[in-house]
Amino acid sequence: MTADPAATAPDLRTLVDALTLEERVALLSGADFWSLPAIDRLGLGALRVTDGPNGARGGGGLLGGVTAAAYPVGIALGASWNPDLVREIGADLAREVRSKGAHVSLAPTCNIQRSVTNGRNFECYSEDPELSAALATAAIEGLQSEGVAATVKHFVGNESEIQRTTMSSEIDERTLREVYLRPFEDAVKVAGTWGVMTSYNRLGGTYTSEHAWLLGTVLREEWGFDGAVMSDWFGSHTTDLSVIAGLDIEMPGPTRDRGDALIAAVRAGEVPEAVVRDRALAVLGLMARTGALHDRRPHVERAEDRPETRDLIRRAGAEGIVLLKNDGVLPLADPARVAVIGPNAKVARIMGGGSAQLNPHYSVSPWQGLAARLGEGRLTFARGCTNHRFEPVWEGDLRIDFYGNRAFEGAPVHSDEMAAAEAFWVPPFAFGTVTDGNFSARITGSFTPARSGTHRFGVACAGFAKMYLDGALIADAMTDWTPGRTYFEQGCDEVVGEAELEAGRSYEVRLDFVSRPDAELRISAFHAGIGRPTTDADIAAAAEVAATAEVALVFVGRSGEWDTEGSDLQDIALPGRQDALVAAIAAANPRTVVVLQTGGPVEMPWADDVAAILQAWYPGQEAGNAIADVLLGDAEPGGRLPQTFPRRWQDNPTGGQDPLVYPGHEGRVRYDEGVFVGHRHYDRAGIAPLFPFGHGLSYAAFDLSDLSCTVGQGDVELRLTVRNTSDRSGSTVVQVYVGDPQARVPRPVRELKAFRKIALDPGAAREVTLRLDPRAFAFFDTEGGTWRVEAGTFTIEAGLSAADLPLTVTVDLPGQELPV
Ligand code: BGC
Repeated sequence: MTADPAATAPDLRTLVDALTLEERVALLSGADFWSLPAIDRLGLGALRVTDGPNGARGGGGLLGGVTAAAYPVGIALGASWNPDLVREIGADLAREVRSKGAHVSLAPTCNIQRSVTNGRNFECYSEDPELSAALATAAIEGLQSEGVAATVKHFVGNESEIQRTTMSSEIDERTLREVYLRPFEDAVKVAGTWGVMTSYNRLGGTYTSEHAWLLGTVLREEWGFDGAVMSDWFGSHTTDLSVIAGLDIEMPGPTRDRGDALIAAVRAGEVPEAVVRDRALAVLGLMARTGALHDRRPHVERAEDRPETRDLIRRAGAEGIVLLKNDGVLPLADPARVAVIGPNAKVARIMGGGSAQLNPHYSVSPWQGLAARLGEGRLTFARGCTNHRFEPVWEGDLRIDFYGNRAFEGAPVHSDEMAAAEAFWVPPFAFGTVTDGNFSARITGSFTPARSGTHRFGVACAGFAKMYLDGALIADAMTDWTPGRTYFEQGCDEVVGEAELEAGRSYEVRLDFVSRPDAELRISAFHAGIGRPTTDADIAAAAEVAATAEVALVFVGRSGEWDTEGSDLQDIALPGRQDALVAAIAAANPRTVVVLQTGGPVEMPWADDVAAILQAWYPGQEAGNAIADVLLGDAEPGGRLPQTFPRRWQDNPTGGQDPLVYPGHEGRVRYDEGVFVGHRHYDRAGIAPLFPFGHGLSYAAFDLSDLSCTVGQGDVELRLTVRNTSDRSGSTVVQVYVGDPQARVPRPVRELKAFRKIALDPGAAREVTLRLDPRAFAFFDTEGGTWRVEAGTFTIEAGLSAADLPLTVTVDLPGQELPV
């Protein structure tokens, strides 16, 4: 997949030599949030990037913007266990990146699902290094096959959002090599990624953006990386160290540490000029590979809502949906009366929150998907309860007035209409009259409640805000503002006030927002909401709706408010009163099907009491259609868990009581569990999870047999037969795990080393061949600085999940050292 560097390298060397020191330095920082500067003197274009990873958002902030296709999030693709599908999505996504006038996708994310509460759990593929590596590789190959660069991220050790810009991840080298570096290694060696993004955190005390061993020794020398390394946004901190260590691009711009400071450092002999030349050469290489070098077109962003993409996203959604439990109620056979219940039923939960957010072309809720398939006449609805983290956004004909100071003084410098009381601004502002850090904004409008009773007024902000009801202060996020878990840790937690309101009466509402002069990430943002708390009567009414239906579908879970960059979850219970809702519905109707949409595991105290459970994650813009396809059997539930679902939060690999292990203490988070992450932890600890890694049912049934293996020149070839024993077509994922019971170092009971997704017609059988290379048997020997296969007998198990491995063979292998 790598473009032939030899073809372009000589020209690029001539080109870099033609640049002045100032021009070379200019290429090493952003010009603005999303692009590098053009070099007009030589006719060079401006390299442009876009987030990433479940679509191409384009420029601007996180809200609004030109619409874009919303693909399934990382964990949903992880659940597909299908590299071919992920490659196809990568290639399709490349066209989206182009439609936003960009050359580089800030994707894929391939950090490891270490805890179950990481805010970006949804964005990552898996808890397993090999599954993550295979999918990251496929995503990169897909993107780059269309000439768009991948920027595999976040390199490395960014497994939590807690104090992520300062935290030091303390990971021993063996664990790093075997687990956390593993997807990045294949991204470079197998997929030939053109870009890498460093993480925010420190690794063993040193910021990854200036980590010489990581960027120099491992990435470039050992793995042979020949692309460009970019910092995460505001994640580079030095002039000399980052450049010397190997960070090519400081993002975003305008520069903080480079520019004149770097020129001065070169002149003072603190940074060798040759190093700056190397960095500039890497950037030119990235520009050449992506066509940015001679791209002088004005920057334009287009919305391209393509039918092929719609179809692909719908198919991919179903391929990631995991059927966790089924007593036979699914697939639904032409039901006449369906109760559609729950807070996620009429809302399309299509993606997580943070920089992966985008403005979708459209989105389909489960209600809409079911109505399109069955007709609305067969459906009844009750929401039952809410599951929001923040009070639902205050909507209406709102007006916003901006003031060019922080005190609402003078006449407004700009005014606009607003449909919803939320904003996320990064500089520069579309209207040039205010600057971040020195403005205030007043939002005015009204609110008319539909029902009488207690209402909650909530505001969270990066900046400061006060909310007023009929002129009286109701929520104050200004006077005693303290940092919380919102807006990339730049915002406060939601501040809430309550009032009794009368149905049908119009109340005046006002929000005063004041920007923060010293905002670390230069973000100004707020969310103001008004909601009514769930009552017992709401749940009872939903149970009544369920009782009279043939089947009750309950749509519960979380949303991008919870599953979001910038804040970890505090537990994995379903938020709000959703557990009570599911229990009430299950008691009212024995044919209750729970459809979960979350970005990771949740506890399910009601699991034994319901007839079926589907996990649909955040599957992109076609969410409701993909879910309806699976519920009604038009599509197979193609997903298998890429992450273990524990019974209780405490059971997870970081769930012990030591804060140093998670979420971190005094600036350090120590990965004490070592290589025993994910399913390897549950095996070692002897903890039976609620649903094991790799688990997922099919509507068909499969049988595995005849496992045999041949030891070849270094490789081991496995053969086994998969048979569809049912009368339906279906798919399954064959998984192969290797164990080294005689190992001299502590090794996991079993490690996933190969897998294959297979579709079979009713009654059909297929012989499957899987190859295990020597690395599949090796551990990283830190003392020797090498991968080592120890002579001895290895077990090879095959099956359909980490806890369902009916076939085993053993192989005797000689000892071997493998290069890094
Ligand atoms: C995220 C990156 C993202 C970047 C640009 C950062 O906050 O960690 O993943 O690509 O912002 O939006």
